Amino acid sequence: MYDLAIVGGGPAGLAAGLYAARARLKTIIIEKEKAGGQIVITDEVANYPGSIEEAGGPSLIKRMKEQAEGFGAEFTIDPVQEVQLDGKVKKIIGKDKTYEAKAVIMATGASPRYIGCPGEKEFTGRGVSYCATCDAAFFEDLEVYVIGGGDSAIEEAMFISKYARKVTVVHRREELKAAKSIQEKAFRNEKIEFMWNTQVVELKGEGLLSSMVVEDTTTGERREIKADENDGTFGVFVFIGYMPQNALVEGKLDMEHGYIVTDENMHTNIPGVFAAGDNRAKSLRQVVTATADGAIAATQAEKYIENNFEE
Ligand code: NAP
Repeated sequence: MYDLAIVGGGPAGLAAGLYAARARLKTIIIEKEKAGGQIVITDEVANYPGSIEEAGGPSLIKRMKEQAEGFGAEFTIDPVQEVQLDGKVKKIIGKDKTYEAKAVIMATGASPRYIGCPGEKEFTGRGVSYCATCDAAFFEDLEVYVIGGGDSAIEEAMFISKYARKVTVVHRREELKAAKSIQEKAFRNEKIEFMWNTQVVELKGEGLLSSMVVEDTTTGERREIKADENDGTFGVFVFIGYMPQNALVEGKLDMEHGYIVTDENMHTNIPGVFAAGDNRAKSLRQVVTATADGAIAATQAEKYIENNFEE
């Protein structure tokens, strides 16, 4: 049996693993795909204190993982199917194995929000993308539409403009939500244009994305935007926010708008169960707050185990 099982291997889970392992808790971090969570698809991490070198998310995560493992945390890839949190001994049921632990930290993060329109799934990877770092280079000299009006959409639009011939930001309102400083840079960028009061209602093509139907959010009028004949295709990058990944604990933990409710010490409503990172109800979802959550959750788990399990 483990002292602590951490579900999720992003910044919150890895920081929790580091703190728990340093406190000599027998710790396992269970990740569904590969370490890193959303930060590994981020090109530049400019606002994590001390992270100032060119290499962004992937390098930061690699070091976080090595550091946690260096102190003895185990790391495994196993998609978790179910969690049983009520008993004194908690059970995490993976595809490969069942893990028993005295305490659990849910650090499952968030994932991109989808438009939800016809064609979106079909053309993902065939014109539709959720990761500029991964895919912008495929659109060298092509036209790209970026959907969204927040910090992510505008920052990624600027990144994509290094490759694309033209980037059009498609936003459902007539003003951006992004921070003013980020907006100003985008307005100065000659390759970036804006399509206001517009939402995408359908994505179409044959094999590759080649047209999209957009709707004016004020009049309801629809029109079709087609790829330039010489190009045959264009890119649609979607940055319209994120969804917490809490399906495993739905109906088990207290939630608010899909996010797990904790106190300031990361305790959920079930003793011995903690939450850390972007899946938690809070005001700022950043790497720096995720790692802080992880550190707090792990030290609280240590206290919980000390008080509830005899040696
Ligand atoms: P966000 O701030 O939630 O913005 C989402 C944007 O997408 C909004 O403009 C929203 O429109 C639009 N949107 C939402 N649902 C939509 C839909 N179904 N169809 C069309 N548009 C839709 O998300 P984010 O930009 O990904 O940022 C997430 C968090 O990370 C924020 O706290 C942000 O500050 C932070 N972040 C910070 C930085 C930085 O500091 N450099 C960089 C990236 C992200 P409305 O405006 O109409 O609501």
